[in-house]
Amino acid sequence: MSERPGVLSEAQIQRYARHILLDEIGGTGQARLLRARVLAIGAGGLGSPAILYLAAAGIGTIGVVDDDRVSLSNLQRQVLHTTAHLGRLKTDSAAVGVAALNPEIRVIEHAQRLDAHNALDLIGGYDLVLDGSDNFATRFLAADACHLAGRTLVSAAILRFDGQLATFKSHLGPPHPCYRCLYREPPPPETVPSCAEAGVLGALAGTLGAWQATEAVKELLDIGDSLSGRLMLYDALSATVRKLAVPRDPDCPLCGPQATIRDLSCHGRA
Ligand code: ZN
Repeated sequence: MSERPGVLSEAQIQRYARHILLDEIGGTGQARLLRARVLAIGAGGLGSPAILYLAAAGIGTIGVVDDDRVSLSNLQRQVLHTTAHLGRLKTDSAAVGVAALNPEIRVIEHAQRLDAHNALDLIGGYDLVLDGSDNFATRFLAADACHLAGRTLVSAAILRFDGQLATFKSHLGPPHPCYRCLYREPPPPETVPSCAEAGVLGALAGTLGAWQATEAVKELLDIGDSLSGRLMLYDALSATVRKLAVPRDPDCPLCGPQATIRDLSCHGRA
């Protein structure tokens, strides 16, 4: 790291040269990225490419929440992990992978599940959150906690050949919608197949995870058009992308004026 905060070292100027060339980033933006703290929920199919690109981009501190261990069926898409790391905690494997790519990045390992007891503290310790979890219970918990903690959320999901991506920053007020403006309640678990049941194209995880990292960098630097208020739908089989408007719902139980969700007790907090 540089001796003086905000001033890049010679090695950093070389490492991030292609960023520094971009008018929208430059040396000032790169220094901001080095000071940024991003939390990745899940170090799986989406988290793997997202974490790698965040680390390569010089996001100074990356938190990783995952209580799972690397298994052989993960390696078809979870490119942060290797065959040599089978059986290791994904947080541990992620820290090793990031260190090999960019040793100046600090990885904070949270080898636990995101739950109603830890979500606000965990999320409150970071500037921005990437959700790459694989189930609706965690997605709703992450979305509620990000709104309540006042943090921007970049959320992605994949199944079979389909992916979707959206940014939520409803804590800033209208017109920004929250996740519950888009999906009011989690669907009954038995109605939604998982990737383990229905399959997923490995490279699709790379597409959506890298896309999350791109939107995270844009939000951290406040450049370009935010995806807040939009839902991107990617159909890999037909090679089509659709962008749908997501309006703020005035009856939303999380971000509406009559909001009923004021803490995480609906997620099982005692
Ligand atoms: Zn809402």
